Amino acid sequence: MNKTMNFSGGPGALPASVLRETSIAIDALPETGLSVLGMSHRSDWFRGVLDEAERNLRVLLDIPGTYHVLFMQGGSSLQFSMLPMNFLRSSGKHAEYIVSGYWSAKAPVEARHEGATRVVWDGSAQGYRRLPAPAELNLAPDAAYLHYVSNETVEGLEFANIPGLHEVPLVCDMSSNLLAAPLDIDRYAMIYAHAQKNLGPAGVTLVILRDEFAQRATHALPTLLDYRTHIQSRSLYNTPPVFAIYVLMLVTRWLRDEIGGVENMAAINRAKSERLYRALDAEPDFYCVHGERACRSTMNVAFRLPDTATQAQFLDDARRAGLHGLEGHRSIGGLRASLYNAVTPEAVGLLSEWLGEFRRLRG
Ligand SMILES: *Cc1c(COP(=O)(O)O)cnc(C)c1O
Repeated sequence: MNKTMNFSGGPGALPASVLRETSIAIDALPETGLSVLGMSHRSDWFRGVLDEAERNLRVLLDIPGTYHVLFMQGGSSLQFSMLPMNFLRSSGKHAEYIVSGYWSAKAPVEARHEGATRVVWDGSAQGYRRLPAPAELNLAPDAAYLHYVSNETVEGLEFANIPGLHEVPLVCDMSSNLLAAPLDIDRYAMIYAHAQKNLGPAGVTLVILRDEFAQRATHALPTLLDYRTHIQSRSLYNTPPVFAIYVLMLVTRWLRDEIGGVENMAAINRAKSERLYRALDAEPDFYCVHGERACRSTMNVAFRLPDTATQAQFLDDARRAGLHGLEGHRSIGGLRASLYNAVTPEAVGLLSEWLGEFRRLRG
């Protein structure tokens, strides 16, 4: 086995066919004869890329015309600030946050700069091992919005159901599972996801927001931090990350043409994660999955070995076998296999078999 496989938490793996097409485009785009890295963002070619990326996303995720699709910068971390700047500041209301892991804990920290913020559930005392049941959430019907993270990338926890009250705008950070499965867009006022986990390379962040919600934003914000600037300029207010958006567009084409849509992708992702969890569960006194069974993520599988020396050995042996990116996030340590869309069932099969071998050799 000498093929290199990427299980990194982010930036994550990209489809092989997308990488091949990208390397051609870096040399010279067939359509223009110029490198994609030197293409003007004001060119007709790039307007076509933006339009196709948006069109493909609308078809793949069934996004109606009442929502805007924006390509922004600053990563998901800037969204933690932009969201309350636009929709909490001068709203006269408070914002609500579910804190269920490393990433969702960062969001309310930024909201507190802008206004009253309430954490409606906090899993930190239990080490972020499970997600709240709907009845555990202490929700107010008059909140400015409710924010949550649909898939906790670090701890490997994924919501099976959408939380919240219908009368409160729901905002979701889907950075690590957008495009992994179909989306019930009508439930959301706004969704955001940076590209570097499941959608493409780092540098672009997708924001999908309902027009009626966008119109509630406060005024007198810095131009670039006002969602309406990006709506009015159709994501071309200033120079966007042309390369990252181009690759994201190729990924949407791959999902459409090679995978056949997000329903198919979801079935493939389910099979991949079931395979890996089965391999881990087969050795329960050796491998320990971080999250409770009902909350297990299809995208990020966080687990641990009995001690740190064995974990170091695991990472060493894995790299030699061509299995890369398996170290856990620095906040919780341990190990993590990220099974984003572009990670093939074959790669997950090899990793699953290898887990059994490692146990027999070193356990
Ligand atoms: C990785 C991650 C982030 C951080 O995104 P940046 O683009 O690095 O700011 C935020 N939210 C979630 C759910 C993530 O997985």
